[in-house]
Amino acid sequence: ELPKPSNFLRQVIERDLEQGTYAQRRWGGSPGDAANHLAGEPDPARIRTRFPPEPNGYLHVGHAKSICLNFGLAREYGGVCHMRFDDTNPEKEDVEYVNSILDAVQWLGFSWDANGTSHLYHASDYFDFMYRAAEYLIEAGLAYVDEQSAEEMRVNRGDFGKPGVDSPFRSRSIDENLQRFRDMRDGKLPDGAAVLRAKIDMASPNINMRDPALYRIRRATHHNTGDKWCIYPMYTYAHPIEDALENITHSLCTLEFEDQRPFYDWLLDALGEGGLTNQPHPRQYEFARLNLTYVITSKRKLKQLVDEKHVSGWDDPRMPTIVGLRRRGYTPESLQLFCERIGVTKSDSWIDYSTLEQALRDDLDPKAARGMAVLDPLKLVITNWDAVMGAGALDDCSAPVHPHQPERGRREFKFGRELWIERTDYEEVPPKGYNRLFPGNKVRLKYGYVIECKGATKDANGNVTEVQAELIPDTKSGTPGSDKVKVKGVITWVAAADGVPAEVRMYDRLFSVPQPGTGDKDFLEEINPDSLRVVTAYVEPSLAHAKGDDRFQFERHGYFVADRVEHREGKPVFNRVAGMKDSWGK
Ligand code: ATP
Ligand code: MG
Ligand code: MG
Repeated sequence: ELPKPSNFLRQVIERDLEQGTYAQRRWGGSPGDAANHLAGEPDPARIRTRFPPEPNGYLHVGHAKSICLNFGLAREYGGVCHMRFDDTNPEKEDVEYVNSILDAVQWLGFSWDANGTSHLYHASDYFDFMYRAAEYLIEAGLAYVDEQSAEEMRVNRGDFGKPGVDSPFRSRSIDENLQRFRDMRDGKLPDGAAVLRAKIDMASPNINMRDPALYRIRRATHHNTGDKWCIYPMYTYAHPIEDALENITHSLCTLEFEDQRPFYDWLLDALGEGGLTNQPHPRQYEFARLNLTYVITSKRKLKQLVDEKHVSGWDDPRMPTIVGLRRRGYTPESLQLFCERIGVTKSDSWIDYSTLEQALRDDLDPKAARGMAVLDPLKLVITNWDAVMGAGALDDCSAPVHPHQPERGRREFKFGRELWIERTDYEEVPPKGYNRLFPGNKVRLKYGYVIECKGATKDANGNVTEVQAELIPDTKSGTPGSDKVKVKGVITWVAAADGVPAEVRMYDRLFSVPQPGTGDKDFLEEINPDSLRVVTAYVEPSLAHAKGDDRFQFERHGYFVADRVEHREGKPVFNRVAGMKDSWGK
């Protein structure tokens, strides 16, 4: 394995490890227990990262980047990555999403088994602590209860180049603020009537520092805390606290949070001074989110595709969700390879979809068993078969399971009088440079014999219904002298005698424009109407015995997977993962 290329995150981590930045912190074991959390054992000087999804949807390829980054860096530097549900938003969350997220992370090859405890973290476990920390801020004169209307707050916050206006509630006494905050908590105020805000600077050039909201009133049942709370912390307040309580060292997030970093530091400095959180506190670092061409990575829009039935579900093989990519045939290793190749940077860009497909090919090429399949079948009749081989005879052929790994053995199939070939492998009038079947031309049927094309039969509409050819004796692949007849074309085939019909789903990109949803049009209008073409193919017997999730290279055609949901022994269903070569944008 090659050494991993350096990047700004690796440099920061290596520096912190070298300097022992986080070596002195104490670890209380149960981070939810705020009374205890600063009193425990020293935390070994190792890095801690976290993957903190909101359980409000299925994970997608963008999350895969974050997962590979957070879990990958922890693994690489002997640290720990916390699997944390950022469940501070009770209305949109669901246990279906929780389970799918855990599945996806495990399938990608990572585990949250820190010290053999398999501990899962939940932001909602810290609600008590967050509440107490908020009272501390009030007592320190760093927070106040604002009862302006939402509209007043919005207007008074100001804008770029225009300073904000202090709220009339900003100068309330500490006692009054404490009382009002407790009233909020005790359900004495209706939803939306007040918010707790940090008291920072209404004239700050960074709008996020103009007294951001910390708590809002929201009567909603939470999946973890039930109806205990009618106030919930804002994400910007909750997230730094979650990181601090869990002794996270490097909190990695996407670039849109860059302007939040000053507040992240402000809050943890304030709580640190009050002895509420460890110092030095975690640091936030931003990296560019993944944008992939022809792909949508907005959970909201992906949900819309599912809810409005533009796709068959979250795991539709055209979906960029991890369950969709999995069903499509992507492997965990191919996604890890992809994430490694795109790297991490600090500037947003679009990654070409072909990068993802190439990672899949590079992963599967050495792994996938080979097989022959005819996707657009046309019958080929060997007219001299009975004379040369005997009426009704079948000849045994074989081919390596993998061309470069003889130890994997050989696959066996028949050759007979009637065979299936690709419709595109016959031309009555060959275009220039065409080396396959046309009257008078010789080609090799791969792993079989050389044949000479004699002609074809057409129906009333002029469509070719059958091709005829003669077998040239003593040309069977792998037998002495078999190469005495020189041919320019080699084609794949399946014998009618042992070929098995299979449903093959030829997937194409789900959107027909490279940056869907970014222009004037609604993203739904940019859906590719031909993103799925289903064909009935013939496959060689070894493919018909596949198990769900088995991946193959169909020779000449690309990579295919036995559909993990609908494939059955005896009724094969395959999904095309990717073609042999890059055909995107061509
Ligand atoms: P929402 O749209 O609901 O806010 P989100 O896309 O931010 O969701 P989260 O569940 O909050 O998703 O994400 C978990 C983690 O995955 C976050 O740290 C987030 O930064 C990261 N992440 C989400 N989308 C991408 C992306 N396209 N590229 C890289 N990282 C991403
Ligand atoms: Mg989010
Ligand atoms: Mg988002």
